[in-house]
Amino acid sequence: MRPTGKLHLGNYMGALANWVKLQDQYECYFFIADLHALTTDYADTSGVAPNTLEVALDFLAAGLDPKKCTIFVQSHVKPHFELPMYLGMITPLGWLERVPSYKEMQENLANKDLTTFGFLGYPVLMASDILLYQADFVPVGQDQQAHVELTREIARRFNQFYPRAKSKNVGDILRASQVHPLYVLPEPKVLLTPSPKLPGTDGRKMSKSYGNTILMTDPEPVLRQKLKTMVTDPARIRRTDPGDPDKCPVGDLHKVFSTPETIANVYEGCRTAGIGCIQCKGWAADALVQLLEPIQKRRANFSDAQVKEILEDGSNRARDRAEQTMVEVRSAMQMSMSSR
Ligand code: ADP
Repeated sequence: MRPTGKLHLGNYMGALANWVKLQDQYECYFFIADLHALTTDYADTSGVAPNTLEVALDFLAAGLDPKKCTIFVQSHVKPHFELPMYLGMITPLGWLERVPSYKEMQENLANKDLTTFGFLGYPVLMASDILLYQADFVPVGQDQQAHVELTREIARRFNQFYPRAKSKNVGDILRASQVHPLYVLPEPKVLLTPSPKLPGTDGRKMSKSYGNTILMTDPEPVLRQKLKTMVTDPARIRRTDPGDPDKCPVGDLHKVFSTPETIANVYEGCRTAGIGCIQCKGWAADALVQLLEPIQKRRANFSDAQVKEILEDGSNRARDRAEQTMVEVRSAMQMSMSSR
């Protein structure tokens, strides 16, 4: 997650809520991608450090548990600078220019100059983020599949150029066979996670860049106010007009957050004009308040000092793991004097 602001309900439902489940099933690494924030926010970096703390707090509030998973800051783990340099050497320019989000984001963020080396290369940074942990799976939604596919291609190319160096050290051989006997960088698979595209208050996809978000930290009055101004089924103009929850962003929120009973009441009430939009929005707000209350309570339990300690500890653990991979990478590339 990039530290470009506090997290919103889209981030929570699209990624974070699922991560909380995954931490019980897998050995997981979750990080705050401050280097990725720089790919678009390089001109004003003042928000990156404070937002890193906020995002970490949002992680912890959602229920990520540093005893079960590793939570760290990307730039605190120096291998995240080293591997992209090596992978950048072998990644053809055409592969990067073909990434769908490359042109899309340049068009969407027209107020920022994204014709930079860093922005073009961000998929290499992403590939490194994954490959440093010799990850088996990357939990992403459909929109991120192209990035994982590119990561697999980069790994494949690396492995062709630089097969695992033959080692005389029994410990190295044992470890290698646990990962892969031939390849230093195993190709990660997508762990496709259902991520409902949550609409924002203006009906478009909820996104920081659209200013239409409901934050995980929004207090109840703010949340209710945001819901009040949320757009609804455009065909339902008067209170007496029947509406269609399937054409209404508030209806979409109900489908994600409300109980089956409430959803049934929404369909019945809206389609018969039995309820008005204000009442329907009130029910949606109720569901959100119920969801966010325990999350906000948990958030309040952490001091900044505690969060920093958790991030430092996580970054140390991540560094140890990433450094193991780098030893193998340098050795396979014959860039390490000591392994010759
Ligand atoms: P933003 O568009 O607010 O900058 P990001 O692009 O940084 O959000 O997204 C971070 C994560 O949150 C990604 O995994 C993305 O799929 C998920 N996400 C963001 N917005 C939504 C949304 N509206 N609905 C579902 N998932 C979302």
